[in-house]
Amino acid sequence: MYVCGPTTYNYFHAGNARMFVVFDMIRRYFIYKGFDVRYVQNFTDIDDKIIQRGNVEGMDPLALGQKYIDEYFKDAKELNLLPATVHPKATEHIPEMIEIIQGLIDSGLGYEVEGDVYFAVDHFPDYGKLSGRTLDDMKAGARVEVDERKRHPMDFALWKKAKPGEPAWESPWGEGRPGWHIECTAMSLKYLGAGFDIHGGGEDLSFPHHENEIAQTEGYLKGKTFARHWMHNAFLTINQEKMSKSLGNFFTIRELLVNSPGEVIRFYLLGTHYRSPLDFNDQNLIMAQKGLERLQTSVRLAQEALAREGAVKNDQGSLELSRASKEAREAFEKAMDDDFNSALAYAALFELAKTMNGLVQANPVPSEGLAEAHNTLVKLGDVLGFDLLHPAKIDVENNEILNEVMEVVLQIRSKSRQKKDWEMADFIRDGLKEKGIVIEDTPQGARWQIKR
Ligand code: AMP
Ligand code: ZN
Repeated sequence: MYVCGPTTYNYFHAGNARMFVVFDMIRRYFIYKGFDVRYVQNFTDIDDKIIQRGNVEGMDPLALGQKYIDEYFKDAKELNLLPATVHPKATEHIPEMIEIIQGLIDSGLGYEVEGDVYFAVDHFPDYGKLSGRTLDDMKAGARVEVDERKRHPMDFALWKKAKPGEPAWESPWGEGRPGWHIECTAMSLKYLGAGFDIHGGGEDLSFPHHENEIAQTEGYLKGKTFARHWMHNAFLTINQEKMSKSLGNFFTIRELLVNSPGEVIRFYLLGTHYRSPLDFNDQNLIMAQKGLERLQTSVRLAQEALAREGAVKNDQGSLELSRASKEAREAFEKAMDDDFNSALAYAALFELAKTMNGLVQANPVPSEGLAEAHNTLVKLGDVLGFDLLHPAKIDVENNEILNEVMEVVLQIRSKSRQKKDWEMADFIRDGLKEKGIVIEDTPQGARWQIKR
């Protein structure tokens, strides 16, 4: 599998994360099914936006790229993304790109104009086959600025002549840097070879990025198939609009991690089928948290019950749990076999958790069946990238939302006291105490802390 990775000029946002998490889930399911998956995800670490951002931050663009590559791995770990088999960086594959560009020029598919090299789209008869567009549609649809140097308005850059002060590499056409599309061609061919199984990315990449990758690669390979299957995830949106760096309507994973553990963000992102749009809001994150907690709680209760009692074999409860485990595995696989429907796979997990919850209190504990159900739930959770045995510990006292809510609660209590509404003030204090939150009245006002 080859998946188009991030352009490294910022922390990645929740929209990018959807893509990473979706393909990680697909990869994990293949592994579960016994496939040996070679997974390549690149870093686009040179690009106009990286250069611009470097100027803003007063940083060398290549150092800036490296900085955000390092940051990528920190967030990826929180989201429980498996590291790729290879994480190639564009800047470390310039010779491979130059070789392919030269090959395209030699076969008449590329042409040089004053240090820039373009791909001649109308020399590749299949151009448009992925997105289902024709060159005429594209010409009509695109607001193409007239570029005298291009032979066809849809021709795209394979190599860009260096501008003063920008990072540049030597090439047969002078100093410059690669175009974006050729990077993925060079890196996927190098690490997977022609005709690899799956090429993935967000749906915005199918045109022009992937269309152009196909044209270059199959042109270079003289018609051999580049990738056998193309998969694209739908967008994460905010108010139905794509979450994107350029629109500025994004939340980075780094920001979201302040209030939500990575596993909750992951649970949220996989709670909708990957080809359906998913709208982002706090409410959905909270629902995801509750859902994940339900599964974690079932696992914990099962463990506690199993620790209490020795094995009871073949009793009614065990048989029921064993049957529920089998049904969960089947429903899970059915959902995942149907185009990786992780949302439906969740339903299989919840169903099993429900049966478990109904039987953990049974006396004697149906140990044999419960152990099987417990292991099944943990295993299937793991296939989706959730470690149900080790829930993330939330640092409640440093939790931003909780702090804000408690501030409001203390204000309400203080107002009640001002109005001598002691009943309400006590009701609030006692109610919180029951939940393990203790209020202390100090000369500076009320304070709260968690005491369990
Ligand atoms: P970029 O860093 O912008 O090159 O994007 C990295 C990957 O994230 C690409 O595969 C994009 O298609 C994907 N992506 C970007 N924004 C979104 C979004 N809002 N929802 C889903 N995927 C996205
Ligand atoms: Zn790509």
